[in-house]
Order: sequence, then structure tokens, then C-alpha cells
Amino acid sequence: MKIYKFGGTSVGTPERMKEVCQLITEDGEKKIIVLSAMSGTTNSLVEIADYFRKGNPEGAGSVVNALRRTYHEHLPALYSDERILEKTRKLLDEIFLQLNDFRGREFSDADEKVILSKGEIMSTNMVTNYLKEIGVKTYLLPALEYMKLDRNGEPDVAYIREKLDEQLKANPDYDIYITQGFICMNADGQVDNLQRGGSDYTASLIGASIRADEIQIWTDIDGMHNNDPRFVEGTSPVRQLNFEEAAELAYFGAKILHPTCVQPARYAGVPVRLKNTLDPKAPGTLINNDQQEGVIKAVAAKDNITAIKIVSSRMLLASGFMCKVFNVFDKYKTSIDMITTSEVGVSLSIDNTSRLAAIVDELKEVGTVVVDEGMCIICVVGDLRWSNEGFESLAANALRDIPVRMISYGGSDHNISFLIKMEHKKAALKALQEKLFA
Ligand code: ADP
Ligand code: ASP
Ligand code: MG
Repeated sequence: MKIYKFGGTSVGTPERMKEVCQLITEDGEKKIIVLSAMSGTTNSLVEIADYFRKGNPEGAGSVVNALRRTYHEHLPALYSDERILEKTRKLLDEIFLQLNDFRGREFSDADEKVILSKGEIMSTNMVTNYLKEIGVKTYLLPALEYMKLDRNGEPDVAYIREKLDEQLKANPDYDIYITQGFICMNADGQVDNLQRGGSDYTASLIGASIRADEIQIWTDIDGMHNNDPRFVEGTSPVRQLNFEEAAELAYFGAKILHPTCVQPARYAGVPVRLKNTLDPKAPGTLINNDQQEGVIKAVAAKDNITAIKIVSSRMLLASGFMCKVFNVFDKYKTSIDMITTSEVGVSLSIDNTSRLAAIVDELKEVGTVVVDEGMCIICVVGDLRWSNEGFESLAANALRDIPVRMISYGGSDHNISFLIKMEHKKAALKALQEKLFA
């Protein structure tokens, strides 16, 4: 069985929803379909929660009303059968009532997660009811009944497999199974989610869990491009990526894939295919275990990085210095992206600055600390084994007019990373496009 995941833009209008339904039913094969919320909906839900948190239920109410109006406009465009339209309207109105139900009391993080879960619940019900209207045997698999996080906030893989299996076995006679991306339960039995953009992760977890033949991520572009199309013109799709290359690109900013999405598929050995809903015939990108030799595949950029330099108080690095430095980051549960070392000190980069003040405070016990904020990691990905001569100098040479704060190479066979100022990101991506892919 294959898993297909459609992102927000792919189900962003009734017309798009119908196109998706055509696409998933035309080959007659059984599939599990993971859907995001309609585009813009999760942002509106974040806004609603924000108003409640700030004690402004009227603000929340006006966003709920605007959302309700938009959804009501979608319904006649989606359904011809008046009964199905009414049934769906009732279900959506029930949800809009629930969204208004947080006034007059203390608002918690758990409440926010309940609010955020409604987008995917609405989109999956809308598409399920449409498929039923056109006569497709469709089952709505409720994600909250099988997708679960453990005590560490990681997917509870054994639970997911068991419950998903149960659900599929108990409901065998369907052609299409629709389920919600993004949403899950946590170890305390509360509604939770897999972080913004996490529907890709849902698809990958399901695909790994049932050992699917393939996981397809359908979005608004024809696969992974060799550079970020939001900043560089003339990018082109990459036809194949190794799992590790895809993981590096996703982690370092290629928005088409959620950073966590590659790992479950890689461990289960399930290939992932990136496809374009707007051009379904386009080949897209296949992600699997193959490694194309001697090729630089793509470039990505990750913003809002902070660099921290710690210079040892002694002349030369005493043994135990590194250990002390890393212990500080471990203590504050802050993961490090890049590291470079010298005889007298170490520079490293982090993207989570929530504990920065405490980290810097403790690092001052081991050395002199300098912090540079507003940085960006530029990551060049491909066959970057050290035995391949000239690849690192090619990338470095492309950036010769840009001040580079750190360079990291040799940590894996797949990437070389540069830390630069965020204001130079666009110029750096463009220069790499010209020098590496022109
Ligand atoms: P969805 O809502 O379907 O999950 P996303 O917006 O999360 O879609 O991801 C698709 C977007 O990712 C594209 O529209 C594109 O602008 C952006 N993107 C960033 N880097 C890349 C890249 N290297 N290749 C393709 N798309 C990219
Ligand atoms: N709807 C969620 C979001 O906008 C999840 C997703 O689209 O993947 O972040
Ligand atoms: Mg996405």
C-alpha cells in the first residue's frame, strides 16, 4: 500500500480538493491519504489561540467568524448533494462552536493544542464526505486514535503500529483511508501535535509503521529543487536524493520537507517521492538509499542561527575544556548545529536561543565568550566525500565575496556548511546557484 500526503495548498480550495480526489482514485489502488489543514487555517487557529491567551475573546471570536464564513463559502462549491452539504455544515459549525468555547477562563497550552487540531479535522471530514458523495468507499481514520507521543515527546512507534494495525484490520473493505496529518495525543492523553509542518512526519510514521511500498509527499512544486525557489530564480528539480542528503536539506531549511520526516522512512527502508499536485505527471524527486557519485545535488539555508565562540582562558586548550563546553549545552537541552575548533577555542552554532543567557553565563566559567546573532547556515549537499577533489573549494570559491563566520566539512559524507550573516543569504544562494549548477 502507498501513503499519499497532501499539504495545505493541495487542499486549499474546493477545486483543489476535487483534483486531489480525482488523483487518488484514478488508478483504483488502495491508499492511505494524509491531509493537512486547508492553507491558512492553522495560521488562523494560532491567531485565535493567541487572542484567548491575551484575554481577548472578542478578537478570537472575530477570527472564528471570518474562518466560518470562508468554510461556508466552500461547501456549495464542493458538494452537489444537499444532504451531504448539510451534514458537513453541521459538523463544521460544531467545531466553530467549540472554537468559541474558551472564553471566561484561564487559557492553557493544552487548550491551544486543541484549537490547532481543528484544521486537519475539518479538511479530512470535508474530503471524506466528498469522496462518499462521488461513490468512493472511504474510511476516515482518526489520527487521535493511533498517533501518539511518548513521555519524551517522541512518537510512540510501538503504540502507533499496534493501533493503526487494529484500525486497518477492523475496517478492511475500503478503497481510500483518509487521516489527519500533524495531530496526535501525548503521553498524558491530551491532544498534541507534531510541530508546524508536521503532516509530512505523520505520513512518514504511517509509511514506516505499515512498511508501505512508498510514501508520496504531494505539494505545490515539482520535487526538491537544487536551491530555494523563494530566493533564487532558475532553480530546477533534483530527480533523486539519498535519504541522508534529503535529511540534511530538510534540516537545513528546504521547506518542502519537514526536518523530522526523513528518519522513519529511512529506518524502515520505505522510499519517499515528492510530487507536484499542480503537475501530477511531472516526475518529482525520489528519495531512497541510492547514492549518485560525484554530484553536488542542492543548497539550502537555515535562518536565525546564533554563533557562540568560547576562547579558553588558558593559552592552549586544556584537556576537559571541550567536555565542559558540551556539558553546558547538554544541561540546557540546546542542540548544536555546527562546530569548528582551533588550538585556543571553539565556535559553535545553535538555533534555539531560549536558554542563551544561562548558557553564556556558564560558559564564562570556562573561557571568554562572544555571541553573534542573526546568522544563517548555508548547506551544500551531495556526494561530498573527502576523496572527491575540488568540491569543497568549488563551494568556498562561490562564496568568495561573502564574509564567512564558520565552515564545517567532514562531519558526514554529504555536506559542507557555511555560517554567514542572514543579510548575505540571498547573495550566497545566488552565487552558489551560478557556480555549482549553471
Ligand atoms: P505544503 O503546504 O504542501 O506542506 P510547504 O509550503 O511546506 O508545502 O513546502 C513547499 C514549499 O517549499 C514550496 O512551495 C517552496 O517554496 C518551498 N521550498 C523551499 N526550499 C525548497 C526546495 N529546495 N525545493 C522545493 N521547494 C522548496
Ligand atoms: N497544518 C499544519 C501547519 O500548517 C501542519 C502541516 O500543514 O503540515 O503547520
Ligand atoms: Mg510542508
